[in-house]
Amino acid sequence: MIPAVMPTYGRMDVAFERGEGAYLYTADGRRYLDFGAGIAVASLGHCHPHLVAALRQQAESLWHCSNLYHIPEQQRLAQRLVNATFADSVFFCNSGAEAIECGLKMVRRYHHLAGNPERYRVITVAGAFHGRTLSTIAAGGSPKYLDGFAPVVDGFDQVPFGNLNEVRAAITPETAAILIEPIQGEGGIHPATTDFLRGLRAAADEFGLLLFLDEVQCGVGRTGRLFAHEWAEITPDIMAVAKGIGGGFPMGACLATETAAQALTAGSHGTTFGGNPLAMAVGNAVLDVVLEDGFLEQVRAIGAELHKGLDDLVARHPGVLAGVRGTGLMLGLKCVVENTALLARLFDNGMLTVPAGDNVVRLLPPLVLGDGHVREALEILDNSCAALAEKAA
Ligand SMILES: *Cc1c(COP(=O)(O)O)cnc(C)c1O
Repeated sequence: MIPAVMPTYGRMDVAFERGEGAYLYTADGRRYLDFGAGIAVASLGHCHPHLVAALRQQAESLWHCSNLYHIPEQQRLAQRLVNATFADSVFFCNSGAEAIECGLKMVRRYHHLAGNPERYRVITVAGAFHGRTLSTIAAGGSPKYLDGFAPVVDGFDQVPFGNLNEVRAAITPETAAILIEPIQGEGGIHPATTDFLRGLRAAADEFGLLLFLDEVQCGVGRTGRLFAHEWAEITPDIMAVAKGIGGGFPMGACLATETAAQALTAGSHGTTFGGNPLAMAVGNAVLDVVLEDGFLEQVRAIGAELHKGLDDLVARHPGVLAGVRGTGLMLGLKCVVENTALLARLFDNGMLTVPAGDNVVRLLPPLVLGDGHVREALEILDNSCAALAEKAA
């Protein structure tokens, strides 16, 4: 008989009752060091007091009122994002896939209004992940996620990751935009190089394309910059954000320059829940913390400390681990053993991680990580790798 909850996920056999900082607790009192953070969502850890207070306070005054009306907290959050980024305007939604969908609609309408409706195709790269709606599985291009959902939404041309010549060769008179994650998350923590990102920006400018970045996973401080593209010193025309921006409250946003954003005129796009007062109160509270002086420096410092510890670990356990990649607190352990075997062993030893493509275990801890958490994580990793190495021997 089918379970009451539709069985679309492979779930681990555990449920959590509460969370505090970098830890999750089961009802029977087991404690887990959370290096998954709900897949980079609980960016400030669990039950951060500032976020809890903001949500409580908002819950007692107004939950929802609709975008038929002005929502002051939405205007405030949009203005703060505009001040802190390349963007001139922000559309709020509820998830990563919706933020991508907004950007894809913007891309088509931008060229339509410019008198070039034939320009609707978007170049994406292999290994990408952009969400699970019909358009975003087409953009991602993963055969696994497309299986059984034909016909595939038209308008995406996929090229190999990191190869600028292939991107340029794929540009046709129908090309409208380039869509890419600055660091692939789901695909296995593959950072795009600075040269590649700069090359994409240059190609977009040369051919009149919009550069559309998916920072759903790597954005909002995860890499030690507010947004990952800042490392390459480029700016996109459009950027999708979600996951960490709500710190655990479901929320997404599509940010854009004035040139791109003006394509979405009144009535051309919308959502019932996007930018509702509860989400906006939490989103503003997340920004309060992330934009505090020294916060991103601390993410970079603790990320470097963790990275160094992981490099040592790889050197000690060559039969288990092949390498570390990533930036800030978006790190991936490339495994020699099955990544799921390491993940299961870490779980047994009280640490949560997330699997990714290319046989990688993702480490996406809360950004409020301390030295003690890093030491604890490295110890659990060391013990788990030692046990796996012994088993393999
Ligand atoms: C998670 C993710 C998405 C999809 O976000 P949802 O909120 O699950 O719709 C899109 N792009 C990237 C890079 C992601 O990591």
